[in-house]
Amino acid sequence: MAKLSIEQLDLAGRRVFLRADLNVPLEGGAVSDDTRARAVVPTIRHALEAGACVVLASHLGRPKGGPAPELSLAPMARCLEALLGRPVPLAPDCVGPEVEGRAKSLKPGEVLLLENLRFHPEEEANDDGFARGLAVLADVYVNDAFAAAHRAHASIVAITKHLQPAAAGLLMKRELEALTRILERPERPLVAVLGGAKVSDKITLIEHLLERVDAVVIGGGMAFTFLAALGHDVGRSLVEADRITTARRVLEAARRRGTPIVLPVDAVVADGIDSPSGRAVSVREIPRSRMGLDIGPLTVERFTGVLKGARTIVWNGPLGVFEKAPFAEGTMKIAAAVAASSAFTVIGGGDTVAAVHRAGVADRIGYISTAGGAFLETLEGRTLPGVEALTEAP
Ligand code: AMP
Repeated sequence: MAKLSIEQLDLAGRRVFLRADLNVPLEGGAVSDDTRARAVVPTIRHALEAGACVVLASHLGRPKGGPAPELSLAPMARCLEALLGRPVPLAPDCVGPEVEGRAKSLKPGEVLLLENLRFHPEEEANDDGFARGLAVLADVYVNDAFAAAHRAHASIVAITKHLQPAAAGLLMKRELEALTRILERPERPLVAVLGGAKVSDKITLIEHLLERVDAVVIGGGMAFTFLAALGHDVGRSLVEADRITTARRVLEAARRRGTPIVLPVDAVVADGIDSPSGRAVSVREIPRSRMGLDIGPLTVERFTGVLKGARTIVWNGPLGVFEKAPFAEGTMKIAAAVAASSAFTVIGGGDTVAAVHRAGVADRIGYISTAGGAFLETLEGRTLPGVEALTEAP
């Protein structure tokens, strides 16, 4: 079902409650990565240019049940002022009479940033009374926080009971469009590239994707549980012993469907993640005392070959311990191969996004999601509570 989008609203003279995900890293009291702030700027501009004023809300970090000065959105107010080229005052709180007064006195074209929603534990409890306190601040609701849409929190779900219509912002809309394009009408072949540390986090994802994709390429730590399931001795590589049976079941299901699961044929092994270098060996010859920390050159070739034929590629998770130079090459080469592909490419997850930036190929990726958890849950086929809560498009 398509959701109502901000572009379908008449915003002249309206007060927009805009839920954004401004959960950014801070360093020395300033925003150290403004990607998420930049991502919401088009929606703010759209609302202001349409004659609305904007009450902007977000969470930041994980304050423990009350206000925490180090998690104030004050640095974000300064960051947004610079990005928007206009004042972005910070309210002293996100609910209460003073904030209501400030919100009500906003004029078209003005923005008010609310203080960290999570200074109130009611936010994460999806509390109805708290949601009502937020709802009175505006007369239309817009959600641009795709990266938080897998959370049933008050500013994401409960608020929509009290503030209608509830529309998707421009960023939310783009995120949903990119993922719908993969899940519902991909140009084929559709190839999923999965990496990261743990199989246990991604079993549901792999099982769901197997029904939709034409091949799944698996690298990273999680590949070793699959290799162990095939009977390989993988030395001290990361293996989740309690998932070997599951991995075997997934491999069997893939075989029955005729959907290839493409695994590493070689690995860069070392003593540990702090080793100054590693050496590539066949997955059949991983020494007992070593661990596999990256995919090897033959695997890069194998994976690149699969990617060459793809018309759609979705990628989540690094293929090795890419934070460490000796084990970053596999991830960098796959980033380059994804970028070089003429397929529609979508990536998501903090590590994967960091990897394409490090590889210098971010501008050649079709769509870079701002989300991690919400991205994976959507690919798992789950309906996100924050998306479900939005008003259906007419
Ligand atoms: P995840 O959060 O599950 O996506 O995992 C990301 C982490 O997986 C990164 O920090 C990588 O360093 C780690 N990782 C990737 N490959 C391996 C590997 N072969 N062994 C151990 N950790 C790995």
